[in-house]
Formats: sequence, structure tokens, C-alpha cells
Amino acid sequence: MKRHNFSAGPCILPQEVFKEASEAILDFNNSGLSILEISHRSKDFVDVMEEARSLALELLGLEGKGYKALFLQGGASTQFMMVPYNLLKNKAAYLNTGTWSTKAIKEAKFFGDVSEVASSADKDFKYIPKGFFIPSDVDYFHCTSNNTIYGTQIKEFPNTPKPIVCDMSSDIFSREMDFSKFDLIYAGAQKNMGPAGTTLVVIKEDLVGKVERPIPSMMDYHVHLNKASMFNTPAVYAVYVSMLTMRWLKENGGMAGIEEQNQKKADLMYSEIDINPLFEGYAHKEFRSNMNATFTLLNDDLKETFDTMLKETGVNGLNGHRSVGGYRASMYNAMPLESVQILVDIMDELERRA
Ligand SMILES: *Cc1c(COP(=O)(O)O)cnc(C)c1O
Repeated sequence: MKRHNFSAGPCILPQEVFKEASEAILDFNNSGLSILEISHRSKDFVDVMEEARSLALELLGLEGKGYKALFLQGGASTQFMMVPYNLLKNKAAYLNTGTWSTKAIKEAKFFGDVSEVASSADKDFKYIPKGFFIPSDVDYFHCTSNNTIYGTQIKEFPNTPKPIVCDMSSDIFSREMDFSKFDLIYAGAQKNMGPAGTTLVVIKEDLVGKVERPIPSMMDYHVHLNKASMFNTPAVYAVYVSMLTMRWLKENGGMAGIEEQNQKKADLMYSEIDINPLFEGYAHKEFRSNMNATFTLLNDDLKETFDTMLKETGVNGLNGHRSVGGYRASMYNAMPLESVQILVDIMDELERRA
């Protein structure tokens, strides 16, 4: 049975990528060797790493603008610590829009003062605060562009002369934007870019080297920049598959092309949520995420029927995060519009049966 994978992460990747990635396990570049067994210092792999780094900058429109891309390990969660380790001298400003921001704030507090400039915790993270003030004495401002769990997304980023650090784990490479407004972008691969195991860090080179504290090598952006993301053995396969996904993105219209697709999917999904009286959206309309649509089924008695219909149609991964409940349709880049249509058809059918 064909499956429609709405999982929030690890998530769907393009079929073409799965195919090429699987072939490379048996024979990489006609070398007679598996990608899993070659040296990470071999030319074949160094080429992969270099292509991945340059594709990341190219897709974000940051080539030649003083940025470098790194593929590190430890997930986005390690960036919660690495960012303040490397950038926080005295005080940093954080916008709290959900679970991931909250975790980032907790880690930053190990390194200095944190000014929580605004929080949407008062309304269960259903919206993105606006019009907040970023103090002038902070070293940087940190935000989370897409809140995977609550299904909200920042549509307009604040203007500030301070460096902006952004956790883009769940909407990296999903929309067109002037990415040069950010000084550091990080994203765990497994939401929209590749398999679990590597984290993309795009960093403006002049941002590092400003704190006095000693930094252990593995935590030091400077060390990774100097070694071109090869200070130690990188997550070879995760970087390779991410590189294939970035190639796919480039061949399919880049950020403008994928944004158009993602908008169509989100419009289809949310129009059903709004029109169908059995369902209710979780996030406030203005801040709805184009990646993760969160919603609830208003009549609990229909849950079993709905879940059975989903199962019978091959819909996978629709359960909401355990902290929110309800349903969550994650519509990452590789999700075809047809899969969203199938989910919408099931929701329609449930309304007819109810
Ligand atoms: C999943 C997620 C994280 C955590 O990523 P790990 O790679 O598991 O550490 C951080 N931020 C956001 C926005 C996420 O969606």
C-alpha cells in the first residue's frame, strides 16, 4: 500500500533521494565500495562535504556574503549550547515561542544573562509575539522560525542591529527570504533536509572569536570553520543524503519553487480545517505554519473512525505531539500535494459519515 507520511521528524524525503541513497550503500560512485566504508578523508567524500556546504549557501542565497556552512553532530539541541558558548559574553535576548525555544533559553542561562523579550506561553504557544523590544546591551537575539510542536511560524522577523540567531530546524529550505538578515542559522537535518545525525550550521564568519572563555574544540565554531567541517569524522551518510536532498531542491526550482508548492499544500490543508465543522485549528490563523498544521477533532466519539480511515488509506504519522494532543499534519518539502489531498478527502468523508 502506498503510504502518505505526515511524520514531524524524522520525516519524508524525496523518493529519488531514497533511491540514490540506497544505491550508494552498495556501490558509491561506481567505486565498488559502499559510502559507509570509505574514508571520510577520501576525495569522493570530501567532494560530497564540499558540495553539501556550497549547496546550502547557494540555496539560501548567501554565497560570497561572508558565510560558511558546517555539518556538525549532536542535533539542534547541541546548538542550544554551542550558540551561547561561542557568542554569549554577558547577555542575550531570546524569543520564547514554544518547547524548543524554552530549551534553548535553559541552555543559554549556563553562559550568561538571558532576557526573554517575549513569550507566547500565556496562550499555550498558539501565536507569535510581536512588537517586543530587543535591549541594546545584548550580544545577540535568538528565535525559532517554525514551532514544530504547536504549528506556528514566524512570518516577519524583527529588525534589530544585533546579530540574529535562528533555529530553523523544521522549516529550513522551505521558503524564499532574505537570509542575510540572519547571522547564524542552524537546523537539525531530520525535519526537512535529510536523515537524523547531522545539523546544518550557517554562520557569518565575523561572528566568532568574540568571547573570552576557553571553548573545548568540539564546541568551538572556530575549530570547525578552520577544518572545513572535517575536524573529526562527520556523519558521513547523513551529510550525503542531505546533499542529495539539496540537489533535488535546486533542480526543482530552488527556494521560490518549493515555497510555491508548500503554500499550495498549506492552503489546501487549512481550508479543509476551517471549512469542516468536525475540526478546529490549534494555532492562530495569522501564525499558522506551512510545515506543521496542528488541529483537533472536536467530537471524541469520531476518533476511532477517523483513525481507522487514516490507517486504511496509508496515512502515517498524523498524531499530534504528546504535549499538545490532537493531530499534526507535517507537510515538509518532499510531501506531494496529492498526499495532502488524500488526507483532506478523508476529513471530508468523515464529515459525510458523521
Ligand atoms: C526537532 C527540533 C529540535 C531538536 O532537534 P534535535 O536534532 O533532535 O536536537 C530543535 N528545534 C526545532 C525547531 C525542532 O523542530
